[in-house]
Amino acid sequence: MIEAKEWRHERERMVKGQIIARGVKDERVLDAMRCVPRHLFVDKIYEHQAYNDYPLSVGHGQTISQPYMVAVMTELLELKSGDTVLEIGTGSGYQTAILALLCKMVYSIERLSALKERAREQLDKLGFSNVAYMTGDGSLGWPQYSPFDGIIVTAGAPEVPNALIEQLAEKGRLVIPVGTEFFQTLNLVTKQKGRIFRKELFECTFVPLVGKQGWKE
Ligand code: SAM
Repeated sequence: MIEAKEWRHERERMVKGQIIARGVKDERVLDAMRCVPRHLFVDKIYEHQAYNDYPLSVGHGQTISQPYMVAVMTELLELKSGDTVLEIGTGSGYQTAILALLCKMVYSIERLSALKERAREQLDKLGFSNVAYMTGDGSLGWPQYSPFDGIIVTAGAPEVPNALIEQLAEKGRLVIPVGTEFFQTLNLVTKQKGRIFRKELFECTFVPLVGKQGWKE
């Protein structure tokens, strides 16, 4: 993609100063973050803040996640190029783009159709063809395309939805913030020989996961 040099500098600054500096090491994740034009996933008025170290509003009371959070959650998925990923909370579509560069197919669910449509439009413009979109309640997953090698939930849940555990493949990895509507702990859930293992990693703050296996509206 042809773009102003300024944006590439901004991305390099973001990757070095916010992501490598905090311990993210996976070169594939770092390269994806160097590559995706994050400023195209926010409103024009926020363009010059797009590579800063915080989330930004994308309207409808929702946010594009902080770059570091996108990187660390993606690294935790340990994606391989042949993997299939379920993403809950398409939002701006930025995280979707990072995932789509790293795996074979992304199934992305967003409950707000206006956000889903805007994300789809942007991702189509950038040429991402390995993403399927759905408007709906992602707390129930997308059983039709399960099992998934990776599942990423970018909204805070009261507990890990059973539907998502069921739709996780053997050796699959699920990353999800779990806690109250205001503060959560990032959880990593893995499935090995049919057994479920759960690790609590660090505190974080996400908008609520609203749905049948999330918070009530
Ligand atoms: N990863 C996104 C990005 O990079 O822009 C940020 C997502 S934002 C923090 C969380 C998103 O989850 C919001 O867009 C919200 O509408 C969506 N959401 C909340 N509950 C949901 C549910 N049950 N199913 C699908 N999406 C949901």
